[in-house]
Amino acid sequence: MLRLTDLEVVQMAIPSPTPRSAPYTYATWLSKAMAGEHGCLYAGWFKSHFSVQGKRDINLDAWTAEHTAMVHDCAAEFRAEGYEVYLEGQNTLRVRGQGGAVLGGKPDLVAVMDETAVVVECKTGNPRTSDSLQVRLYMYLLSEWSTHPARECRRILGEVRYKPDRGEPLRLPHAAADLMRRYMQVFLSPVPPLATPSFQECRFCELAGGVCMESIEEEPEAVVVGWF
Ligand code: SF4
Repeated sequence: MLRLTDLEVVQMAIPSPTPRSAPYTYATWLSKAMAGEHGCLYAGWFKSHFSVQGKRDINLDAWTAEHTAMVHDCAAEFRAEGYEVYLEGQNTLRVRGQGGAVLGGKPDLVAVMDETAVVVECKTGNPRTSDSLQVRLYMYLLSEWSTHPARECRRILGEVRYKPDRGEPLRLPHAAADLMRRYMQVFLSPVPPLATPSFQECRFCELAGGVCMESIEEEPEAVVVGWF
């Protein structure tokens, strides 16, 4: 089965960071920080303040096709139950704070029926803690986003949809607003957090290879000991 693995997501970045006119943070960056999957908060802070151009060294077409098929299968399922379904581009959600910073996201699917909206994110890979947090952030954004058709819904649910062999869909009762605020404050601060470089994280980071001077790009050698 084809899926995007961590090793395939090695970036061949062409770093040309340009300052953003106002900070812009994506829900996916927040969810990975909240889950501890991106321990180096400097990366999220930097990308919130600077636009970084990069490219991947693999062809994502096959992964995209698998993900798209999953989203369309999910859409058909909800439609069969009587829901009105909105897909990706229709779900571009953005909220702007009083200081001008923007938090944005784009859930794969939002299904609406009567007073209920269900936010769904489809994942082709292994389940991660950040998956459910990402959906919670989308739920929060949806509750604040006044132009989405789901704005009239009094009940917003969330779901992470994995492939059938990767576990049951997860229903989420509420948004993780407090955690979200905490990490937004880190990413939007004018003072960057300290970088915490590690080979395990830097090798997948868009800022490695020129933008971030702290990057560790070679795995440290194991130290030889004499007790075993
Ligand atoms: S390259 Fe490493 S140290 Fe630099 S921002 Fe990325 S993860 Fe952090």
